[in-house]
Amino acid sequence: MKYISFTDEPAINPDDFFMKEALKEAQKALALDEVPIGAVIVHGGRIIGRGHNLTEQLNDVTAHAEMQAFTAAANYTGGKYLKDCTLYVTIEPCVMCAGASYWTQISRIVYGARDDKRGFSQVSDRIIHPKTEVVGGVSSEEAARLMKDFFISKRDKS
Ligand SMILES: [Zn+2]
Repeated sequence: MKYISFTDEPAINPDDFFMKEALKEAQKALALDEVPIGAVIVHGGRIIGRGHNLTEQLNDVTAHAEMQAFTAAANYTGGKYLKDCTLYVTIEPCVMCAGASYWTQISRIVYGARDDKRGFSQVSDRIIHPKTEVVGGVSSEEAARLMKDFFISKRDKS
């Protein structure tokens, strides 16, 4: 993986940097004809878990990007909690993933585009752990465009 430079090069905001990595995961989902949502989990400036939506591949409606990333990060750390970690995900988490994030006790969630249909905030912000900071709108246009293009191509095929 690349490192963020804090020397002579223009500084990259870490949230922008890691959201780009989540977008790369979304591209992997797209390549598999999955709904293009990607996620990474970061601890101490390092990616410790990656995931992309695999609901079709795994024939599992729970195989969302965040769920894959939570499991990968827990496998990496050997502990089930993700304190002092940040989840970057291209689209606002659904109620299931927000609920899962509660159990991980993750410190931050940074998401790209809002999901006005299935996003957790449509139901209640209280699904998120009270100690979890949530930031939305990072690279939201790119994340939303991936989704829009995907669903347009699906519609045109059917
Ligand atoms: Zn979800």
